[in-house]
Amino acid sequence: MKQILLALKLNLRKLILISTIISVSCLFIVSVFILNYVIKEQLIQNSLSVNAKYASKVATSADQHFGDMLNELKYSADLLGQDFSNHQLTQEEVRRIKNQSNKFNSVLIVDKQTRIVSFEPKSLNLNTKILYKTVGITESLKHKTTYISSPYWSVKHNLVVLLSQPIYDQNKNYRGMMGGTIYLQKNNLIQKMLSTEYDFKKSYMYVIDQDNRIIFHPDHSRIGEKIINNNGLDYMVRTRMGSVRLINSRGVENLAGFAYIPSVNWIVVSQQPTEELLKQANAILLKVSIIIFIFYFFIFFIVWRMSRFISSPLNSLAKMASMLNQPDIQDKIKQVDPWYFEVLKFRTSLLLSSQAFSEKITELREHVNTDPLTGLYNRRGMQIFLKELVSLGRSFAVLAIDIDFFKNVNDSYGHDQGDTVLKTLAHFMKNNFRDEDICCRIGGEEFIVLMMTSDSKVAYNAAERLRKTIESSNINAIGPVTISVGMAFWPKNSDDVTEVFKMADNKLYQAKNSGRNCIRY
Ligand code: GH3
Ligand code: MG
Ligand code: MG
Repeated sequence: MKQILLALKLNLRKLILISTIISVSCLFIVSVFILNYVIKEQLIQNSLSVNAKYASKVATSADQHFGDMLNELKYSADLLGQDFSNHQLTQEEVRRIKNQSNKFNSVLIVDKQTRIVSFEPKSLNLNTKILYKTVGITESLKHKTTYISSPYWSVKHNLVVLLSQPIYDQNKNYRGMMGGTIYLQKNNLIQKMLSTEYDFKKSYMYVIDQDNRIIFHPDHSRIGEKIINNNGLDYMVRTRMGSVRLINSRGVENLAGFAYIPSVNWIVVSQQPTEELLKQANAILLKVSIIIFIFYFFIFFIVWRMSRFISSPLNSLAKMASMLNQPDIQDKIKQVDPWYFEVLKFRTSLLLSSQAFSEKITELREHVNTDPLTGLYNRRGMQIFLKELVSLGRSFAVLAIDIDFFKNVNDSYGHDQGDTVLKTLAHFMKNNFRDEDICCRIGGEEFIVLMMTSDSKVAYNAAERLRKTIESSNINAIGPVTISVGMAFWPKNSDDVTEVFKMADNKLYQAKNSGRNCIRY
């Protein structure tokens, strides 16, 4: 795991981007899932409610219609009851009912022996002498009340539904019935009203009777068929009005709205295959998903830009943390814009560290360039100044100073006392020369002073002053200590600094040879 993480070369920006990709993707997936559910659920609910409303509206007007039809038949039946044997009257009534509104496909008057006394249209060519024992006629005569049949095959081989009213004479004797048929498979008003295929996302409507037979259906071949294997049927029969998700006899899931037509005991069902509706949902989902995707991509783009903005100061500071030894690092750190808390904190600590670091470095440099015993510059320190003076072209005097018979001091008083003499001499040197002059201890008891002068008089006076100070001091009761001094000048004596040093050394040698405690140049 750690190996993989290392291989990825993760940094703050990558981490921000990775976490953004993960969260935006999760959000997208969850959004699409939720949307899918909400859109589908919403469409299903809408479809169920639209179908229910539509079925109810159709049922109401159909009920009105059948009510009217039964009333028309009733009116005639009552009229005929007064004069049933009047053939002209029965003839007129069937013609009137048939042609007045064209609601029935045929109208007939049947006596209680099942003879068809009168009928319309004449094209039926029925024989008024014979008995017609069709299901509709025999059932209607048996009921002797208002009667609506199930679909059955008429004598002329039409699939029909019969609506009939009983005919009673003035003495309340049953005489027969007045009936009207609706041809279920032929065009008529009721058929038009009840079997619309409105061609909207495969929605359609059909009607079932109290025996669960299909009375109207856009597919005429199914009319008269008894419904089986429709898992919503029981619910519809029981509830009579509402909506249901059902699987029909053909195994297709449908969203159905249904309503009851009380006058005929039928149920109108308006339904739409769920799959058709969900095709629509998928199209909507795709569109919405694309919009969401664009939106999330936009968010990702913003985060991508912001990640740079967020990570870049930390990134710069992190890089600088490994470059604290660079001379201009403090300026670079100060250039980082601390626009949020962590960066401000990091920047401040980095500045403090770099400061501490450079102080430490300076301190270390001083240690390297100074002599720990006397605090004067050592040979290294002197070299640095020399380089600087030569490059600046600044003329100077080299004073080579050596303590006389110093070995004797060590031998007689011990090394510690010798050291004290060295320290005292250094102290005198610092006091004797100006701040700009550079005092160095380059060996055991050998000292160099780089005096910022080209004037041999000035240099001599300073050396003489030091010589006298040493001579007259009584360090730790050791007795008088003296020094010898050799002097040379750069660039007066030579352009070559090494040469100048050699000359100063030679002069020191001369001073030693001249009895010591003196200055030579
Ligand atoms: P002269 O220079 O007058 O010829 O005699 P000298 O005795 O000073 O001669 P030399 O240069 O031979 O002796 C230097 C002595 O300085 C040798 C050594 O004991 C002593 N010395 C060198 N370094 C130190 C030091 O750091 N501390 C002490 N106490 N003595 C030192
Ligand atoms: Mg010496
Ligand atoms: Mg000496």
